[in-house]
Amino acid sequence: MKKTYLSFLFIFILLISSGCEIFVSEREPLLEVHFIDVGQGDASLIISPNDKTMLIDAGDNSKGREVVEYIKRQGVRKIDVLIGTHPHADHIGGMDDVINSFEIGEFYMPKKIHTTKTFEDVLLAAKSKGLTIKEAYEGREIDFDTNIDTRFLSPIKDKNYSDELNLYSAVVRIVYNEDSFIFMGDAEAPNEEDILKSFDDIKSDVIKLGHHGSSTSTTKEFLDKVSPYAAVVSAGYKNKYSHPHKEILTLLEENSISLYRTDEQGTVVFKSSGNEITVNQDPGSYIYRKGN
Ligand SMILES: [Zn+2]
Repeated sequence: MKKTYLSFLFIFILLISSGCEIFVSEREPLLEVHFIDVGQGDASLIISPNDKTMLIDAGDNSKGREVVEYIKRQGVRKIDVLIGTHPHADHIGGMDDVINSFEIGEFYMPKKIHTTKTFEDVLLAAKSKGLTIKEAYEGREIDFDTNIDTRFLSPIKDKNYSDELNLYSAVVRIVYNEDSFIFMGDAEAPNEEDILKSFDDIKSDVIKLGHHGSSTSTTKEFLDKVSPYAAVVSAGYKNKYSHPHKEILTLLEENSISLYRTDEQGTVVFKSSGNEITVNQDPGSYIYRKGN
């Protein structure tokens, strides 16, 4: 009997102390930016200090379930802002799974249709949830969270980029007090030129490089204006496009910009207090890998 009593006491003390621990380690009010490793593709999850959530892209069709599970593991039950940057499968392939798995607030995409089954699946998933798709265009503000300025820098409304789908990419910039992030989608040099013409201040501490670090994006002029301390490449290890390209790796190294890359490091998570950014990994390498 005595032994039972002691075990009970022990468990009781353990519960109290773990209770205290939970109280102490409650999530700090930080802005979290998760660059989820989806192989060759993009998926970025942003969680605000008030637990508002935004997802920019959802990886390829085969990655939808993984993206959903990753988001659930963060304790997220609702996506307040969902953005499909452009209709390519490595960005919106997993989006139907996301739409079917979570309550969705607002859903944004650029005004550009595509005739693939992947694109159709996204539209059908949105329709079945009763979601209307809001247009992503340059200058449009996103109602993400108070104290976090969130807006699209591209594409220009009604501009005809012909069938170059990458050029329709929704570019998103987030500013939380002193800290800022820019998400380029697959935007390329012509978009960067347009952004430079339209916006005076695009300074961002962290840039998710356009088009997986392809040399079709990230001009020197644009990078200088963004002036980041860190760049992120979301790409698959030894992908067939050889992303990130050598020119971009050299440009980053020459400008002493830390590079984080999902192909080497898996998922990379930044946390911002509004005046200080921390990251869960050391910077990755500038090694160029030719694809298979
Ligand atoms: Zn892409």
